[in-house]
Amino acid sequence: MFDYDLIIIGAGVGGHAAALHARAQGLKTAIVEARDMGGTCVNRGCIPSKALLAAAGKVRELQAKEHLRALGISVGDLQFDRAQIAHHATRTVEKLRNALTNSLQQLGVDVIQGRGKIAGIQKVEVNDRVYTAQDIIIATGSQPFVPPGIEVDGKTVFTSDEGIKLDWLPQWIAIIGSGYIGLEFSDIYTALGCEITMIEALDTLMPGFDPDIAKLAERVLIKPRDIETYTGVLAKKVIPGSPVIIELSNGEILEVDACLVATGRVPLSADLGLETVGLTPNKRGFIEVDDRMATGVEHLWAIGDVTGKMMLAHAASAQGIAVVENICGRHRTVDYSSIPATVFTHPEIGFVGLTEPQAQAKAEAEGFTIGVTRSSFKGNSKAIAEGETEGIAKVIYRQDDRTLLGVHILGLHASDLIHEAAQAIANRLTVDQLAFQVHAHPTLSEVLDEAYKQVLHSH
Ligand SMILES: Cc1cc2nc3c(=O)[nH]c(=O)nc-3n(C[C@H](O)[C@H](O)[C@H](O)COP(=O)(O)OP(=O)(O)OC[C@H]3O[C@@H](n4cnc5c(N)ncnc54)[C@H](O)[C@@H]3O)c2cc1C
Repeated sequence: MFDYDLIIIGAGVGGHAAALHARAQGLKTAIVEARDMGGTCVNRGCIPSKALLAAAGKVRELQAKEHLRALGISVGDLQFDRAQIAHHATRTVEKLRNALTNSLQQLGVDVIQGRGKIAGIQKVEVNDRVYTAQDIIIATGSQPFVPPGIEVDGKTVFTSDEGIKLDWLPQWIAIIGSGYIGLEFSDIYTALGCEITMIEALDTLMPGFDPDIAKLAERVLIKPRDIETYTGVLAKKVIPGSPVIIELSNGEILEVDACLVATGRVPLSADLGLETVGLTPNKRGFIEVDDRMATGVEHLWAIGDVTGKMMLAHAASAQGIAVVENICGRHRTVDYSSIPATVFTHPEIGFVGLTEPQAQAKAEAEGFTIGVTRSSFKGNSKAIAEGETEGIAKVIYRQDDRTLLGVHILGLHASDLIHEAAQAIANRLTVDQLAFQVHAHPTLSEVLDEAYKQVLHSH
């Protein structure tokens, strides 16, 4: 009856995960991609940025002469090659894009290159041809948001799309936005010798983070580096050129060599033919879905950044698997409270669940009290041996049933450490159960162990 059991529009990480899981369930599946296989994460996001951060991290390490001297190591003057670092990122992207494309082909997913549009219930149009499918998933992702007044030329004023190419190293670069993308790029650029001016419209840096983490990040990741900061200041106008001219809302004019616009991302939901099925995205352009990823239109589902639930690669994949389960008639939801988020600065940040203000608000609304405990990397044997003791772990929990509400870590390998807390939240473990679990010694994971034990000892 139908050309396919399932057509997925968008071959990003969300669409990819859905396609693989659909094939595992025996569904005849096609995936439509207008641009590069792998979407934002593989081509313009997670992967190239982490490749650049890996190189930048090594440069930072080798330049930390005092730190090395304390370990008995001395190195001469360090050389690095910008073009080779950029090449490392490009090669990594190609490798992962090929692996992703091959995995789809090997499992028998039909890849249709072209822009997909909904053409009515259970219909998708690509390259003037209409395909029918029992179910359709929209996984079209997002793109950088550029606020009004900012002109992007892709060379001197650019977004992360161009930034990840590392085409040049501007001597002085303004970064607009202090979210995770702005922070990661500031880590790359400062390691490679650039000076930065970070401009944040809200009153504090890193407004989405737990306040203790934001404060510590300012002390560890911003203050000691070549980064000047503005908070509560809007970049009203940005004009590309040499120099780039930035007009700030406080009346100041900055003249810099380049400007990275890292002011968030917007969903790709326009021109998708949604009107043919009577679906309207919300005011911010996101396609709203219920906890099964259903859009409300029969046989039409949506996952990933375009839903705005949690704009992270692994959240998109988790939704991709869950939606296929629902399509197969098995109820499955995604537990967003246990999905960790990470920032790959040096040192890293990892967090899961609620920030302290969010937990406090929930506690007031629902009538319980919260407990907060913190432990430091300064007392951790492994961190001391590494000579990298900057960092904290902060655990927020309910006083009544002792389950975790949120865990926030800034410190060495925080992006790996956070997973134990994510599992604990997913499995509704109590802080007391966690305190009795055994962590290998000496490991960084004992930072969390210490935080859990503090709760036990304080009662
Ligand atoms: C610089 C940067 C760093 C990041 N780092 C991380 C990180 O470290 N960890 C993390 O979890 N997340 C990270 N992210 C976020 C992550 O990339 C996204 O959350 C993730 O890519 C979302 O996946 P998706 O499948 O929803 O959409 P996308 O990856 O955006 O894929 C959507 C795909 O759909 C295609 N498409 C759109 N419209 C159509 C159409 N009409 N027809 C056909 N195809 C279409 C697009 O071309 C695209 O390929 C980063 C993002 C950026 C920008």
